[in-house]
Amino acid sequence: MKKNMLKKLFIFGAIILLGCKKTNDFLPVYDVPDEFKPIVASFIEAAAARGHALHINNLIIRYDSTLKLPYCAKSNIISAQNDVQKTISISSNTQCWENSVQFETLVFHEMGHCILGRDHDTGKLPNGTPKSIMYPNDISLYSPCDYVLGDSCNLLYRRAYYLDELFDPSTPVPNWGK
Ligand SMILES: [Zn+2]
Repeated sequence: MKKNMLKKLFIFGAIILLGCKKTNDFLPVYDVPDEFKPIVASFIEAAAARGHALHINNLIIRYDSTLKLPYCAKSNIISAQNDVQKTISISSNTQCWENSVQFETLVFHEMGHCILGRDHDTGKLPNGTPKSIMYPNDISLYSPCDYVLGDSCNLLYRRAYYLDELFDPSTPVPNWGK
């Protein structure tokens, strides 16, 4: 009986030691190339403006030439936990985005996965447009016009709503989406 208890204690101790070792061993890497730094900074700024203090010390962003269309980016994880390395891979295919705003939307979507832990959301607003930046494969949600003269294709006014929704999925439907 006593021997059995000792054995159990030993196993229990070993589990605790192993458990501690695992968490202590994880050292997050932050490696974000210069061209992505302003986008990560705007993500943190947008979060702060909405009452979320984000400190990101775990993020690798890199180009990946093996990503093939229609896949323009991917995150290795969907989690807000800081217990495994987070890596966003971006396609080196320049057909993936038409302007810097679409490039931002692409990175924000992936950060939604690996920083906020958000999964895809295929919901639509009453007017039929995607409800969220977390809608799969749509980076033109709040894009400006590219080649067209005039302002009817300029959707930049929608950016504020999409950022609100990114940090708070219960954000009410905006007027333009009714
Ligand atoms: Zn996604």
